[in-house]
Amino acid sequence: MSDSGQSQQGGSPELPAKKFDTKLIHFGNEVDAATGASSVPIYQASTFHHHDIFNPPEYDYSRSGNPTRQALEDYIAVLEGGSRGLAFASGMAAISTTFMLFSAGDHLIVTEDVYGGTYRLLTNILSRMNIEATFVDMTDFAAVQAALKPNTKAVFMETPSNPTLKITDLSMIAKWAQENDLLSIVDNTFMTPYYQRPIELGVDIVLHSATKFLGGHSDVLAGLAVARNESLGNRLKYLQNGLGTVLGAQDSWLLMRGMKTLGARMAHSEISARKLADWLSRRDDIDAVFYPGLPEHPGREIQERQSTGYGAVVSFDVGSGERAKQVLSKVRLPLVAVSLGAVESILSYPAMMSHASMPQEVRHERGITDGLLRFSVGLEDIGDLIADLEQALKNS
Ligand SMILES: *Cc1c(COP(=O)(O)O)cnc(C)c1O
Repeated sequence: MSDSGQSQQGGSPELPAKKFDTKLIHFGNEVDAATGASSVPIYQASTFHHHDIFNPPEYDYSRSGNPTRQALEDYIAVLEGGSRGLAFASGMAAISTTFMLFSAGDHLIVTEDVYGGTYRLLTNILSRMNIEATFVDMTDFAAVQAALKPNTKAVFMETPSNPTLKITDLSMIAKWAQENDLLSIVDNTFMTPYYQRPIELGVDIVLHSATKFLGGHSDVLAGLAVARNESLGNRLKYLQNGLGTVLGAQDSWLLMRGMKTLGARMAHSEISARKLADWLSRRDDIDAVFYPGLPEHPGREIQERQSTGYGAVVSFDVGSGERAKQVLSKVRLPLVAVSLGAVESILSYPAMMSHASMPQEVRHERGITDGLLRFSVGLEDIGDLIADLEQALKNS
């Protein structure tokens, strides 16, 4: 290998700390150390030869470690500002593995309008293992404090929440958690580290469904976790290996490929989402619009303190389940589907899709009404998206 590649990496004199957009491209493993290849190789191997039986190799078996996955894990740790990153087969694999930090008899405090799959995991699966959860409105600090029990071990937050986009004050809850010896965990799927870095606000563990904005192309299912410190990182690593919830090499590569454009995609989609929310809020045939960037959003001030943007997801209530179904059948541009955070816009119907696993009365209590739609704004022209939604609303 020529020297020029080396000096580019080594770099003297010292450069100032990289800005986030630069870290997205220059994250440490962007150039293959062995060959100079412009992307990390896909190490499609389950096992690794022991050249010297007295000195075991760095990688020995791909459940325990794989160089492609490792590059991704280091990448997300850099982006979130944490000590260690871990990659999982899905967002739910990251979340369920993290919950294995807890034991029978433990209690957790959880955002009430948490992702439907997290709700199902807690209420139907972990409950069988005697891990108990109390769901609270995290915008109500008194309610969070009141949920504390002697056996409480963690606070699990999701902000903005899904799909009603309520904002939790991350640094306040993280500080309270620390004072009470609780772990603080955040599902950061909606904001991504581009807009929000919870570890910098005192949070212990950040989780992602990387299937969404991080991957960004609706073509890979993946989950990521980032631990604030080394000991927590080691505990999660132990669980990842022990449970076998790892992400494969091909998907690790594809996810990195998607993540490199995170900044460009988020910035574009957010400008469009602001326009869409503004347009919706001026219509009189819409009952409610939920977007943290709207001046009347109750969490806007906190959002502006802890994030650098409002994200690309807008929820709105068209009045009834009947009308919601009409709109879904009449839009021509967005994908009508579960999921969010992709290059294409995705219109979803929480009551029948992401939150179908929540009983109807619980759903209604949490503001997930039958007329609620969730629009994840993609990279299309916003004028086209609005024109399409306008014709669908007019005819519904
Ligand atoms: C999609 C999603 C999940 C689950 O992730 P999968 O990759 O589908 O397993 C968890 N949390 C949030 C906020 C999500 O949107």
